[in-house]
Amino acid sequence: MYDFSRCKLCAATAASRTYELAKTTVYACSACGFHYISHLDSLPAESTGNPAQTLNQKAWDYIESRLPGNGKQLKKNLDLVSHHLSLTGSYCLDIGAGAGLFPRLLADSGAFVHGIEPQGIFREFAQRKFGIDLNEETIESRHWQQGFTNFFDVVTLWDILEHVNFPSETLQNAYNVTKPGGWLFLDTPRRDALYYRISEWAYRLSGGKNALFLESLYSPLPFRHKQIFTLRQLVQLVKSIGYTVISLHNNVLQPQNKMVLVCQKL
Ligand SMILES: [Zn+2]
Repeated sequence: MYDFSRCKLCAATAASRTYELAKTTVYACSACGFHYISHLDSLPAESTGNPAQTLNQKAWDYIESRLPGNGKQLKKNLDLVSHHLSLTGSYCLDIGAGAGLFPRLLADSGAFVHGIEPQGIFREFAQRKFGIDLNEETIESRHWQQGFTNFFDVVTLWDILEHVNFPSETLQNAYNVTKPGGWLFLDTPRRDALYYRISEWAYRLSGGKNALFLESLYSPLPFRHKQIFTLRQLVQLVKSIGYTVISLHNNVLQPQNKMVLVCQKL
């Protein structure tokens, strides 16, 4: 059992319960200011005693219905990647590949693609819809850490860091499998955006009764948001791991208030 008073970012025993939401609690670290909830996923989720999800017609239709919206964003992400390097013949790893659309786009651009997706129904969908075989093993596993050290030209983490149990470890493990000179591309919501601050004010003003967007930003359900970084925290973290930040896009007025980071292992 993890002691949530130990900060997931800086490891100081300096975090305390700060926002009591309907379904979970947000801890804030007084040393580094990191925010995260008091919940971790057990992996693989299929073995937690819940019946394994199956890719029935309903699940298939749901995943398929979301492809156009996700696809629009992922095509922009592909443009961002191919702006920085030629994908032809490059080795790419998409961590948290979901339905497999981004690996499909990479493969169509001439890349050799690997993808990680812990949820079985998404792996099955990716296989049947896109002919893409995704790996179940997560990035910290021996499969990647021993078999693919300094291997990939590109590692992508689209909307992943807010979902994983320990984002510092995820980034470190991503770094390990990236070859020198290789690239990291990621996006994640940012906390120092207006919607988050307004929610914090609302929480304080209402004595904890109304947390506005915080209720939907965080969730204890499997694979949902567990932490949200400020831009400064994220930049500091990737630099401490060894990445060089090549560019960052941090429009606070962007839909979903996301930040996009392009880094290189130099
Ligand atoms: Zn901390």
